[in-house]
Formats: sequence, structure tokens, C-alpha cells
Amino acid sequence: MINQYSTPSRSTEEYIILTLSGVTCVCILPFAIYRITIGDWAIAVLDIFAVIISAILFTYVYRTHKTKIPSQILAFLSMSVVFGTIILKGSAQILWIYPALTAIFFLLPANVAAIFSAVVLISIGVVLRNELTLFFTIEFYVSAVATLIFSYAFADRMRKQQEQLTELATKDPLTEAGNRRAMEQKLLDIIAFQRRDQSKPSSLILMDLDKFKDINDNYGHAMGDDILVAFVQNIQGRIRATDRLYRFGGEEFVVVADNTPFKDAIGLAEELRLSVEKDGWLAQHNVTISVGTAKYEPFETAFEWLGRADRAMYQAKEQGRNNCCIA
Ligand code: GH3
Ligand code: MG
Ligand code: MG
Repeated sequence: MINQYSTPSRSTEEYIILTLSGVTCVCILPFAIYRITIGDWAIAVLDIFAVIISAILFTYVYRTHKTKIPSQILAFLSMSVVFGTIILKGSAQILWIYPALTAIFFLLPANVAAIFSAVVLISIGVVLRNELTLFFTIEFYVSAVATLIFSYAFADRMRKQQEQLTELATKDPLTEAGNRRAMEQKLLDIIAFQRRDQSKPSSLILMDLDKFKDINDNYGHAMGDDILVAFVQNIQGRIRATDRLYRFGGEEFVVVADNTPFKDAIGLAEELRLSVEKDGWLAQHNVTISVGTAKYEPFETAFEWLGRADRAMYQAKEQGRNNCCIA
């Protein structure tokens, strides 16, 4: 059963931005106050600016769960505040580059972060060229580049693991179609969109392999598995890049045709049925499908929408299988 009232849990990106903006805000605030008390206005303004922007970003991400633009702003903010402080106060402020360097690798794509940090590091070298000794300059660059490489490696590792986890959590391991959980999320996203804008219809195409129990009995369970994999490859090869295929149950699959007129979805359902019937290898094993197609009707729940597609599919079974019906 689909829980439509669940609030989305926070993504890794959200936690990163909330942590970084929260820490930036809390760490810089005492310095801002100190600068105000000693009348160091240039730095005070810069610090207050950083505190306000990071507080706004924290609140925005906390409320909206959106991360793309806030992470770019936060990356730019942290680097420019550090750079600004170094210009105003000189080499004594150079230590702030280390947390900023680490932060931007978690906020921006790795190659963008690498180029951005290289530009800032070179600019710092130019600004401080008369202030730093040769030895200190070498020490600064070696330690900064080491921080840069560590941050790159950790951020890259984190992203790869996150991709693997997402894949594990959303894909059916046998067929590599999306799993039921991914389908439920997709339906909830479509319903949320349809509540705002009903000009772009979406349809469900529910497909059930006919007499699959007999296929297992005749050819064995392992061959049954191979047939499911071949079926998914056949369907994936025929749907548009924007359509998604999910394994709904054992031998039941759903194509979600987002932003598609209903008549096109009905045409696609028939095309998919025919493609299975005519596919050389699947046809050899007498694989056919019964299909139910249902357009999303305003204000129905995902459960009701799927229910209508399911009833249409059963109607196709009743009419002799290897058939398409619409809800
Ligand atoms: P119908 O045309 O009415 O849909 O008949 P059916 O035999 O396909 O329907 P039924 O629901 O009775 O059986 C579904 C079969 O699908 C039973 C189950 O063993 C098989 N099945 C489900 N998941 C898998 C799987 O992962 N691999 C294999 N090989 N078989 C599976
Ligand atoms: Mg079946
Ligand atoms: Mg079934």
C-alpha cells in the first residue's frame, strides 16, 4: 500500500548543506561580533554577510529540500569570503582556506570543485606574493594540494557509494527494471505534479505475462527467470527514454508513460504486446502478455490508479489473454 502522507526523508546532499551552512553560521558569528566590537568594519561586514547568507541557505534547504542552487551558492560564498578576508587581512587568514577547500568538494561536482580551488589557490598566491617567504609558499601549496586531493577522494568515494546504494534500493536485481518502491515514488511524484498542472496527462501500462506458471512448469524456473530478463530488455528497447519500466510483482510489470496523451499510451501498450508476441526468442517460448492501460484521473490516489489499470488487465485476461484493454 502506498503511503501518500509520508514526508520525504532528507537526502545526503541536504545533510551536507545543512551541516556546512549551520557550521559556517555558528563558527563565523562570534568572529563577526568580535570584529564589530573592535570596530574592524570591513571584515565585520564580510562576516555578517556570510552569517546571513548561510542562515538563509540553512532555512531554505530545511524547508524546501532543494539542494542544487544552495550548494552552488554555499561553495561560492565560502571561497569568496575566505578570499575576501585574505585580501583584507593578509596571510594571517590563510588557514580558513582548509575548511573551505574541503567543503566545496562536497558541494560541487568534483571537476568543477578542482578547477575552482585551483583558481582560488593561484589567486591567493598572487595576492600574497610579497608577504610570504618562499618556504612558507611551498608549505602552503603542498598542504593545500594535499587537502584538495583528500577532499576529492572522500567526496568521490561518497558519491559512488551513494549511487550504488540508490541503485540497490530502486532496482529489481533480476531484471534491472525499477522495483516496486521506485514505482511508488514515481507515482507519488506524478500525482503531486498533476495536482498543480493537469495539462500533461500520464498513463500506466500494466503488463502481466500470460500463463507464466505453465512456462515455469514447462521450461523450468531458471528459464522462467531468463524469460523475465529478455522480456524487460525487449520492453526497455521500445519505450522512450522518458518512460520508465518497473517490476510491480513476480511477472507483472508497469510502464509509466509520463507526459503522454492517452491515445499514444494506448498505442504504446498495443505496440508492446505485439513486440512480445513477435520477438523471436520470446515467441519460441510462447510468451505473451495481457495489458491494462489507465490514464491518471484528477485527485485519485496511486492505489486507485493502479487498481483501475489492474482491472483493465484482468479484463484482457478474461478476453482470452494476449490482449490490451483500457480503463
Ligand atoms: P495468468 O495468465 O492468469 O497471469 O497466469 P499466470 O500463471 O501467469 O499467473 P499466476 O499468478 O498463477 O502465476 C504467476 C507465476 O509467476 C507463478 C510464479 O511462480 C511465477 N513467478 C513469479 N516471480 C517469478 C520469478 O522471479 N521467476 C520465475 N521463474 N517465476 C516467477
Ligand atoms: Mg501472469
Ligand atoms: Mg500475475
